[in-house]
Amino acid sequence: MNSFTKFLSKNSLIKFIYHLFIPKLCAFCAKTVNLDEDVCSACQKEIPNLRVDLATPILLSNRYNIHQKWYIDQVIAPFYFSDTVRQAVHTLKFRTGTDSAKVLASYMADAYREAGCESDVICYAPQSKGRSRERGYNQAELLARALSILLELPCEELLIKTRETQAQSSTENATQRAENVKNVYEVTDTAKCEEKRILLVDDVFTTGSTANECARMLHEAGTGEIICLILARSAR
Ligand SMILES: [Zn+2]
Repeated sequence: MNSFTKFLSKNSLIKFIYHLFIPKLCAFCAKTVNLDEDVCSACQKEIPNLRVDLATPILLSNRYNIHQKWYIDQVIAPFYFSDTVRQAVHTLKFRTGTDSAKVLASYMADAYREAGCESDVICYAPQSKGRSRERGYNQAELLARALSILLELPCEELLIKTRETQAQSSTENATQRAENVKNVYEVTDTAKCEEKRILLVDDVFTTGSTANECARMLHEAGTGEIICLILARSAR
C-alpha cells in the first residue's frame, strides 16, 4: 500500500471526492462498483462457490510432491484457485488506488481466525527488486501488510530474493518448480526469526514450492511453527 492509498483509506471525505474522479473498483474483477461496495454483485455471487472447507486441510506430504521435505506446519486459504481469484491477483498487482489488498486480506484474516492459529510475526514471499519494478507490486507483500493491520501482528521483511528465477507458471512439473526456487532466498535478520511463530503470506499456492523454500530458510534461521496463509490454493 503506498502512502497515498493509506491516506485515502483513513479519510472518508477525501475518499469520496477522490472517487468522484477515479471510479472505485471491485477487488476481484476491477469493474466499477458503488462507493459503499468492495466487491461487485457478480463476484459476490461467485464467492460462496470458491470457499475452502477449512475442515479439510491441505495434506502437504502426499498431495504435491512426495519427494519434498515440508517445512510448513499448516496451510490456510479462504479460496480455491479459479478465474475469479486469478482476476483478483491481477487487480492486486496492477490496479493502484483500489482497496483490493485490504478487501482480499480480510477474507484471509477470517480464515486464519477460524483456524484458531496464533503467530508472532508476519512475513511474505519476496520478489527480486527487478521483478517488482517490472511487474507492478509484490502482491504477497501487499497482502501481508494489510494482514498486519487486520491481525495486529508486526510485518517484517524476513526474506529477500537473491536472484531472478523463471516464472513458476512456466515450469512443467512439481520437481521443476522446486528446483527453480532452490537457494534463491536469504534471511535478512536471524535474530528476528529465532523461536518466532511465523505467518508466511503469499497470493496463491499450487505445488507449494515457493512457500516451502521460504519456510526452509526460516526454519534454518531457527523459527518455531510456520503457518502459510494464502489467498487461494489449487485443487479441491
Ligand atoms: Zn467483480
